[in-house]
Amino acid sequence: MLLALLLLAAPVPPDVASRLVGGALTSGVAYSRLEELTDTIGPRLSGSAGAEAAVRWALKKFQQDGLAARLEPVKVPHWVRGEESGEVLPAPGIAGHPLALTALGNSVGGTVTAEVIEARSLSELGQSARGKIVFFNHSMTTPAGYGQFVELRSHGPSAAARAGAVGMLVRSLATASLRSPHTGMTGYDPEVQKIPAAAVSTEDAELLHRLLQRGAVRARLSLGCRMLPDADSANVVAEVRGREKPDEVVLLGAHLDSWDLAQGANDDGAGVAMVMEAGRLIASLPQRPRRTVRIVLFMNEENGLAGGKAYAAAHQAELARHVAALEADSGAGRPLSIRLHAGEGGRALLRPWLSALDGLEIPLEDGDASGADLGPMSTSQVPLVLVHPDGTHYFDIHHSAADTFDKIDPENLAKNSAAIAVVAWALAEMPEPLPRPPQPEHEPQDAPRPAAHR
Ligand SMILES: [Zn+2]
Repeated sequence: MLLALLLLAAPVPPDVASRLVGGALTSGVAYSRLEELTDTIGPRLSGSAGAEAAVRWALKKFQQDGLAARLEPVKVPHWVRGEESGEVLPAPGIAGHPLALTALGNSVGGTVTAEVIEARSLSELGQSARGKIVFFNHSMTTPAGYGQFVELRSHGPSAAARAGAVGMLVRSLATASLRSPHTGMTGYDPEVQKIPAAAVSTEDAELLHRLLQRGAVRARLSLGCRMLPDADSANVVAEVRGREKPDEVVLLGAHLDSWDLAQGANDDGAGVAMVMEAGRLIASLPQRPRRTVRIVLFMNEENGLAGGKAYAAAHQAELARHVAALEADSGAGRPLSIRLHAGEGGRALLRPWLSALDGLEIPLEDGDASGADLGPMSTSQVPLVLVHPDGTHYFDIHHSAADTFDKIDPENLAKNSAAIAVVAWALAEMPEPLPRPPQPEHEPQDAPRPAAHR
């Protein structure tokens, strides 16, 4: 009896802890993989040569790590940016100013020259917008502001077009900027004229705001972007097969695509490197875990979510046997906590299995653990887990040309990898799976929604 209690209190074999945590903290593999992905392959927007190179690279790395890996086909939108520029036109009392801007993902191209009007919400546009460029301004200063203001980017172009506007600018959704515009997906209401839409840097948003206090401002916006026919691409899927219950799956996800403006080191190269490292470490254990650990590198999270939708559709029949899912798409800051979204009692069940992380001070808590690519499987009530990193500076570089490898702290990347490896192993090894969370409340299906990930 005493022995049984002791075993219950410490179910994690010491060599598992040292191989997973010690391995992640000392190997440097996640960091060097991320350097390869960002410097050798570079930007990975869906449909681009970079995205396809990343697919082939990831497949090969998984195979080298001893995982069974395959590609699952996904049709993706293929949007290209082209040349782009903009300027404030000189007028009496106003110098000409170039605008640091970049097209929003999925925007139509075109050149418009018109008077600018400023708006702060989607609903305040009246007939005054007719024939003008609507400039959506906002006051995002913290990461929480992203959720608050992202609708200006995602729904702004159609709101402006509905009021008769010919072009749309939005202040970058950023917490800091050195005059780099931050892109992101937008969507068009099919009933309304599609107008060119771009983000301006926060500094240029301030300039427009100041100039508009003084009088009329005219601007030119030239976007060379266009949508090409859908392209063939793939999710990369790799597995460590479970030794007892191979049909029960713990899913670890990240997205392989990135925006085209930079290397996508934080978004989401870091997540890719973390889940690959977790897979590599678990595959290197002397004994495979009870259940299957499946790593999915999703394609097209940024401008369509085609990979997440394709995965949920192709695996519909086995989602009831997905015992947990984790998406790493929140950057590579210091891990602050492990968030769990499961049924009643889930946290108490999982906690003893995370003892290998005791030295890292990453507490387990209940909370929002969603990920954009996991959204399409939400009706299957899969328990969700999130290793939640410090996101204080995430939106300083998010979706901008500054999302580069030098921003990654190797120690924090390693700690996140360790936490993901331990969580995945625990979920795959616990005798009983976590209780499933209650059915989510119905969400209305309205206009296209943005990839509102962190
Ligand atoms: Zn992302």
